[in-house]
This record gives sequence, C-alpha cells and structure tokens, in this order.
Amino acid sequence: MELKQLYREIVNEHNLHPVHKKTIENPDLVMRGVNPSCGDDITLSLKLDNGIITDAGYEGSGCAISQASVDMMVDQIIGKNKEEAIRLAGVFMGMIKGEITDEGAIEELDEAAALQDVAHMPARVKCAVLGWHTMQEMLENPEGAK
Ligand code: ZN
Repeated sequence: MELKQLYREIVNEHNLHPVHKKTIENPDLVMRGVNPSCGDDITLSLKLDNGIITDAGYEGSGCAISQASVDMMVDQIIGKNKEEAIRLAGVFMGMIKGEITDEGAIEELDEAAALQDVAHMPARVKCAVLGWHTMQEMLENPEGAK
C-alpha cells in the first residue's frame, strides 16, 4: 500500500471509529476549542495525577481531519507528563506548518504523522491543530480550564 493511501486510511479509521470520543468522569481540566472557519467544535477533558495525564477524552463534532487529529492526539498524550505533551504539541504544529520536516522528529508523533500532508493544505491547518492547540492551552493556563 502506498504511504499516502495508508495515511488516508489511518485518518478515516480515527474519524469513523474514534477511540477517545467519550465523557471523562470528574476531569481535572476541561476546555472547549472552536475553529469557526470550518465549524469544528470540541471539548477536551483531561485527568491529571502528579503532572501526568492519566486519562483524556473529547466530545463535539467537526470535519474528518479535526476529529481524527484530536483522537490521535489523545492516544499520544495519555501516560505522558504535561511538559512532554506540550513539547509534542510543538512538534505537531511545527510539522503541520511545514517547519519541521525531519523524519526522526515526526516519527515521535506516531499515527499523528499521518496528517503531515495537511502542511500543503493551508485551509485545513486550523482543523488539524485544533485538538493540539486546545490541549497546549489548557496545560499552560490551567486556571482557565476548570
Ligand atoms: Zn475542520
């Protein structure tokens, strides 16, 4: 299978069968992220224990790229500490903006690397970064996410 085809399958799979689209009981941080230019609207919930993200989930709706991206992101950040999650958000956004093209760096993103092609679709950039941006924002400004 061609790599681009494989990437498309990964995005479709997360969009059609999301793993983390669910309510989190008693979340420590909750934040809504909206991308008005496309109509993507998510609410992300995180549970934290000693700075480690122990569980996460999201609700909402939006286009395939926004939904698949947030689902893959949640996959990536569960079990990681805050600093690491924020760092990964930086790698992801760098990849989407086309600033990070190093394969080793992108590999760290695991399945989320499937969205690298969005770098060539400026109109979809906001869709792809919505979940990551929301997560980064809530971890960096937890006072605004309760
Ligand atoms: Zn969108």
